Amino acid sequence: MKKPAPEKLSLNTATVKKQWGIAQAIEGCARHGIRGISPWRDQVAAFGLEQTARLIRTHGLTVTGLCRGGFFTAKDWLEDNRRAIGEAHVLGAQCLVLVVGGLLPESKDLHLSREKIKEGIAKILPEARQAGVPLAIEPLHPMQAAERACINTLEQALDICDALGEGIGVACDAYHVWWDPKLQEQIKRAGKKRLLAYHICDWLVPTRDLLNDRGMMGDGVIDLPKIRSWIEAAGYTGFHEVEIFSELDWWKKNPDEVLATCKQRHRDCS
Ligand code: ZN
Repeated sequence: MKKPAPEKLSLNTATVKKQWGIAQAIEGCARHGIRGISPWRDQVAAFGLEQTARLIRTHGLTVTGLCRGGFFTAKDWLEDNRRAIGEAHVLGAQCLVLVVGGLLPESKDLHLSREKIKEGIAKILPEARQAGVPLAIEPLHPMQAAERACINTLEQALDICDALGEGIGVACDAYHVWWDPKLQEQIKRAGKKRLLAYHICDWLVPTRDLLNDRGMMGDGVIDLPKIRSWIEAAGYTGFHEVEIFSELDWWKKNPDEVLATCKQRHRDCS
């Protein structure tokens, strides 16, 4: 199989969030020749939105996504999503990633929670279109359905996209969807138009923490080259964004070593 082009690598700043603020992450990408970056909003806020946008422009990086909007089942979701759309616009982000939220408070009703999420997305979509910010629904692994996202497959996400029309697509995160028996067909269904982002890392065996024990590409069991081949067959030509939450390992390491390893594993294992 053909190796991925090195210029397709993007750094999701969560990967080094314990070591670096956003300015250091931007400068780190520039130093390591990583051409894409996907920041988290809390880090952007800490440094300043305009300053972040300026520094990213200075280094000519592509913003492959802004993390994140969503949580449509939480209080104050509307204002927060409006702010997120505005920030994504200022940063020139290719998409605003939506982690859609889990069950409604005090509820066991998954169906109702999903309906609420769909309504929430429909509500913010016109503003996102107006701002030129595509919305990317990110299905999360079902182990996070209760607390973080009860949209758990690409199929569910694409059904919402089809119902809502233009300006919306999906972020396909290999960590969350690798187990899905319909993965290949749903990637194909999404096609170039709906595939707005592709996130990579690896699934460790054993996994020691539900949120913060993601692996570096090549250290786990996900067949990343295969998934990339499906993504490419569907027409996706965008970045491959490394997103690793790793309390026990990568967050403890020298961030320059982390970035160097990301580059090497992107080339050899994804
Ligand atoms: Zn992701």
